[in-house]
Parts: sequence; structure tokens; C-alpha cells
Amino acid sequence: MKRKINFSPGPAILPESVLQQLAAATLEYEGTGIALPELQHRGPEFAAILEESKALVRELCRIGDDYEVLFLHGGGRLQFCMVPMNFLPDGKTAAFIDTGQWAHEAMEYAAYYGNASIIASSKESGYAALPAWPQQLPADTAYLHITTNNTIYGTQWDDVPATTAPLIADMSSDILSCPRDYSRYAMFYAAAQKNLGMAGVALAVIHKDMLRTDVRRIPPMLSYMAQVAQNSVLNTANIVGIYTTLLMLRWTKEKGMAAIAQENRDKAQLLYDHLDNSNIFIPRVKDTAHRSLMNVCFTAITPVHETAFLQWTAERNITGIKGHRYAGAFRASLYNAVPLSDVQYLVNTMKEYEQQHQ
Ligand code: PMP
Repeated sequence: MKRKINFSPGPAILPESVLQQLAAATLEYEGTGIALPELQHRGPEFAAILEESKALVRELCRIGDDYEVLFLHGGGRLQFCMVPMNFLPDGKTAAFIDTGQWAHEAMEYAAYYGNASIIASSKESGYAALPAWPQQLPADTAYLHITTNNTIYGTQWDDVPATTAPLIADMSSDILSCPRDYSRYAMFYAAAQKNLGMAGVALAVIHKDMLRTDVRRIPPMLSYMAQVAQNSVLNTANIVGIYTTLLMLRWTKEKGMAAIAQENRDKAQLLYDHLDNSNIFIPRVKDTAHRSLMNVCFTAITPVHETAFLQWTAERNITGIKGHRYAGAFRASLYNAVPLSDVQYLVNTMKEYEQQHQ
């Protein structure tokens, strides 16, 4: 099969070695005579998959046993529900920094359960920059929620300033992509379909201090405490999805966090450097300190170029660079599994296009 050069925002490209292992395991899991989708969720094989995955998350995030690691159903959006259900008591406020669609949607879900308040927003700028970090939180803040990387608009928080309330982050589109002090977070979560495997699975990592009390009556499936008590196997687990996450975690460890972070910087710089000097393409985020290394959003000087370049890339085996309908034009997602050579190929494709259309 000729693989496409894939810049999709998610489900995203997976490393070929991971796909090969997944394909082999799908037919037979490690000499057991059982296919991966047939494995028993309470059997020893899946217990080992879970234990190794949890240990790798702790190792790669450099956090200890004071954090619980869960692999849950429902992707990112179910975490938008579970976080306020579990952590937003009556009479308290969930504070949100609104940096785009996903941050805003997390706030909207929280509003079903209690007081959800936007305390900083970059909506005015069309989310083309990050807002100033809030100096003060409402006195009754239960937690502060941020979205570390804004998949649609292409901005990203580096390590963030100190806060007085527990910090909770949606890291769906940049987990394990850059150096980050994960121990600063009371909780972080990520939909798996970018840097951690396939859709449906959500990684949720929660400091034990957050789990002391149930803030309301919650059905067990949606209760972090109940999920912790059952080690993520409260119901029939998503075995194929979680195994794919394990393969991605192993791949991440083998490559090394420092090497991954450096390559992500190199990939993004290659593309931003080209955009900053282009006569046709325009980077959406101007402030270099706010630019995402994961999702590089750009437009063109005319809509004609936007249509034509999309066609041009499609003819050159490139897929997934159409921008989100809210942000427009183009978005190249450069998740961990995208090789530097693919970004070089995209830049070369842009150069050829520019030469022909000067
Ligand atoms: N948060 C972020 C930052 C995302 O990028 C996405 C999906 N692109 C989501 C949440 C939602 O994830 P899901 O589709 O798994 O609900």
C-alpha cells in the first residue's frame, strides 16, 4: 500500500510499526490462539496490557503513584462531562480559559452541572493568540480548566504560570509531545486519537487528592472513584483501543521524550519559517510564543489559492490539511508520528506551488 502523507487532525497518522503490530495482534494476540478483539477484559493478558500502560504513562509523564491512571470510554467529550460531574460541587465555580472551540465546549458541558465561568478568553482575536494568564481566580473556584493545545486554531500553552486552584487540562492534542511538568496538574486527560492511538479511548490521570469525596451521586460508569476502584474495567473494556495506546506508549518511550520534543520543534519551525517568508501563504498565529507545534494553521492571500493548493496537495499524495471550518483554509497537524521528512515534503510542495503561481 502506498501510504498518504497524512496531516490529519485526528484520527491522526500512526507509526507504521505500530500498525503492523496491531495488525498481527488483531489476528492472534501473542501466541495465545486468541485474536486481540476476542481477549477477555478480565483475563491475564488484558490485565498485563493495562498495568504496562499505566506504568508507561507514569514514567513518560514523570509522575508517581499519587496519581491514578484511567483508560476510559468516550473520547475527549465524555471527559468534558465527567470532570464537572466529579469535581464541581454545588455552590462552587469551574473557571475556564477559553482558547477555542474545545475549551469553550468543555465549559458548556460543565454548565450542565454547576457554575462555569470564563475568566480569560481570546475569542476577540478569533482565537489567533492566547489570552493573558488570569491574575486572580474567583474565590469559590473548584478548579481551573485549560486546553493545552488548541487543535482547531493552532495555539498552544507552554508550561503555565502558577494558580491557586487545582489545575485541570485537556491535553488531547499535545500530550507527550513537549516537555511539560505534569505534576503541576491536579488532573489531565486526553482523547487518544492524536498522540495516543485510536478514537474512543480517553486517558485520564488524576491526583489522588482529587478523589477523596464524591461531589454528587454519579452512576458508576461516570464516577472516577468507581472507575479507579475497578481499575478501568468497570464494564467491557475497549481492548483494541487500549492496546493501541500501549503500542503508542512503547513507541514513545523507545523514541524518547527528548527526541520527540526536539523533532516536534524542528518540524514546526520548518513549516512556520516557510510560512513567515511566503508570498502566498499566511500563518494564522502571528505571535511565535503562542504558536502550536502540533497544529499549524494557515491561509492564503486569496480564496482562489486556497482551493487550488488543496487540489495541488491532493494530486501529490497529501491528505488531511484542509483547515477546520471555524478557522479556515489549511491546518497541518504535526503530531508525534509525523516524520520530519513529511513536513519537508509539504514545504517542497508549497515551494513548487509558489514558483508556478508567482
Ligand atoms: N479536546 C481537544 C483538544 C480536541 O482536539 C478534541 C478532538 N479533536 C476533543 C477534545 C474531542 O475529542 P472527541 O472527539 O474524542 O470527543
